[in-house]
Amino acid sequence: MIRVAVVLPEKAGDRAWDYAIPDDMVGRIGPGARVKVPIRSRSVIGTVVDVKEEEANRELRAIQEVIGETPLILPKLLEIARWIADYYCCPIEAAMTCVLPQAVRSGDVSAKLVRHLKILRDFSADELEAIAKRAPRQAEVLGILLDESEAVPASEIMSRSGASDAVIRTMARNGWIEISSVPVGRDPYGSESFLPTTDILFNDSQRVAYEAIEEAMLAPAEARPILVHGVTGSGKTEVYLQSIRKALELGKTALVLVPEISLTPQTVERFKARFAERQGEVAVLHSHLSQGERRDEWHKIHSGKACIVIGARSAVFAPLANLGVIIVDEEHETSYKQEEAPRYHARDIAVLRARLEPCAIVLGSATPSLESWHNAQTGKYRLSVMPQRVDDRRMPILRVLDLRRVGAGGDSLLAPALTLAIESRLEKGEQVILFLNRRGFSTSLQCNACGAVCQCPNCSVALTYHRDAGSLACHICGHTQRAPKKCPACADPGIRFSGTGTQKVEDAVRRLFSKARIARMDADSMGKKNSYRETLEAFRRAEIDILIGTQMIAKGLDFPNVTLVGIVNADLGLHVPDFRAGERTFQLLTQVSGRAGRGEVEGEVFVQTFTPFSPSIQFARQHDYEGFAEQELEFRSSFGFPPFRRMVLITLRSQSIERAEFCAITLARKLKIELPEGAICGECAPAPLAKAKTYHRFQVALRGPSGRALARHVRKTLAALPMPEDVFVAVDVDPVGLL
Ligand code: ADP
Ligand code: ZN
Repeated sequence: MIRVAVVLPEKAGDRAWDYAIPDDMVGRIGPGARVKVPIRSRSVIGTVVDVKEEEANRELRAIQEVIGETPLILPKLLEIARWIADYYCCPIEAAMTCVLPQAVRSGDVSAKLVRHLKILRDFSADELEAIAKRAPRQAEVLGILLDESEAVPASEIMSRSGASDAVIRTMARNGWIEISSVPVGRDPYGSESFLPTTDILFNDSQRVAYEAIEEAMLAPAEARPILVHGVTGSGKTEVYLQSIRKALELGKTALVLVPEISLTPQTVERFKARFAERQGEVAVLHSHLSQGERRDEWHKIHSGKACIVIGARSAVFAPLANLGVIIVDEEHETSYKQEEAPRYHARDIAVLRARLEPCAIVLGSATPSLESWHNAQTGKYRLSVMPQRVDDRRMPILRVLDLRRVGAGGDSLLAPALTLAIESRLEKGEQVILFLNRRGFSTSLQCNACGAVCQCPNCSVALTYHRDAGSLACHICGHTQRAPKKCPACADPGIRFSGTGTQKVEDAVRRLFSKARIARMDADSMGKKNSYRETLEAFRRAEIDILIGTQMIAKGLDFPNVTLVGIVNADLGLHVPDFRAGERTFQLLTQVSGRAGRGEVEGEVFVQTFTPFSPSIQFARQHDYEGFAEQELEFRSSFGFPPFRRMVLITLRSQSIERAEFCAITLARKLKIELPEGAICGECAPAPLAKAKTYHRFQVALRGPSGRALARHVRKTLAALPMPEDVFVAVDVDPVGLL
């Protein structure tokens, strides 16, 4: 018997080779390890994807070298990586980077080293006294170190004793103390302290939800995933917190996924504060961590030091052992779907992982995705409803302003009724949020005379106008140029920006409410690292009266003094070419209205729209999720859209429009041969985003009852269809965006 590693060379597509493991490498090689192996006359680097025992019936070449010390991947995560490669049609190597992030696998990011001091010998009382007379600082340092059995960070000793660097070095030369470099974990929250909070007594629906989760934790193998449908402010987070507490009591660990956008300091603080006594055991994973911080957090989890992990999408792969519960908050959020290969959905991976572990899984939302809602309706998930806000505060009143009738008072963008309402709230010293729907939203530069719009030269989209910089930018490819002074088509100097940018709303609001303190928050104004947080803090301290923003401010923020929320343009989400547009609009209106009236005073929400009778707006107005879901599911069912059918979207792109189209047509033709049962394949069509970053884009969409069967069919067909070198194919299984 010999041990064989199956190695997948980097950049070699999907094929793996077998290699013998030399005796001296046994124990250092497991799945995930990076190794150097011979292929023909070359040596290449690859990743071990499997280790097996085999009869020595054939000659295998041996692994040449193990690169770095790679921590071994948990077997369940490896299984997930394989599943991802299979289901989402990506190379196993790409799937492996999910479970073993770059920061962990490359040897170049190492632990941070910090100078530590340790005492080397004993000192008698009279010896110390003599030193104190001659060199009081040195005696001070010795005094501190004599009380410590471990090495202490030098910076701490220096600030406590007042000793300088020179003093420390003299003492080391004397042979009294030892200076060493100790690797320490970087803790992004290390400098903060959290006031501990205690569990709150549950109300009835909280208790019911909690008990379902507890039951699932005690018997995870038999439990179904739990969908918690709770309105904003119904106390879901409190249920999560106490469920985590229970998991810890059972000696298990907990994983909490939140959308990147709501992974705010406020959210993290809430978890850290509840488990203040175990602060060092809470790991946070988000995209703003440096490589070093990411590596440290990963090792903290992998080594078993962390028992709670909070993070965005990729945290679903956190190497936690012994999981008790996984919580996916705001499970409907599209940011759980990765938009580049591997195009996995973190919520779906979480459900899969919970089944493999097994552990309890909780999906929570005020507006569940129709996929999850459908699963609850069919009994695949267990539903727990939390219909009321905590302490029975009423949902805010939603007023729909029909822009076709009222007009948005000239240039002000705000209907008179909304302007009046803001005025009266400000008079009472209350706060206001004005919200702009950014999706499909244009701040483009359009000529009033001829209608020409400034377009990106590389992409089929209008450029966005940035007034502060006087420039035009493309949000797809990043192209920028100076804003023209006259229309590039007809040379009319009256070219002005159409659409309603946050900047323009800000100007209008400043004109209307000259005494109010106003702040704007969007991706453009929030360039500086901390200004997001600073603006929110200032708003919380009531130093800002009106906050204007995009999606960024719609989520997870809790401001008791906000009594009015205005949605300046509710419809724009309805006009994007996506069968989920109605669902998105409903979600958005519900989330945004959740911001109003979280305190003592009842809140109100104004929705400005050109389509006041669209179902998304009407159901949102009634706070009727179930009604909305029912009619939306009917629509999905009759057109054969998800969740009734699975979908695979294939996008081909090339700088040559002819080759992109030709390949897409050929692919569609081949896909139609031997389709899986019940599946259909559409015709090739230009993508809604027909050109991006100088690439022309064409799409082929498949639908069918089984995602796996579709994926298998697509993989097989693509493997048998060689593509020209300049045509790139992206396969998106269960896409959430269709652009
Ligand atoms: P959600 O996550 O559903 O939006 P939260 O858990 O944030 O709701 O609860 C909203 C507010 O109500 C929080 O300030 C929370 O501390 C408080 N809260 C939660 N549960 C209770 C309860 N049973 N009694 C009183 N207050 C509660
Ligand atoms: Zn562009």
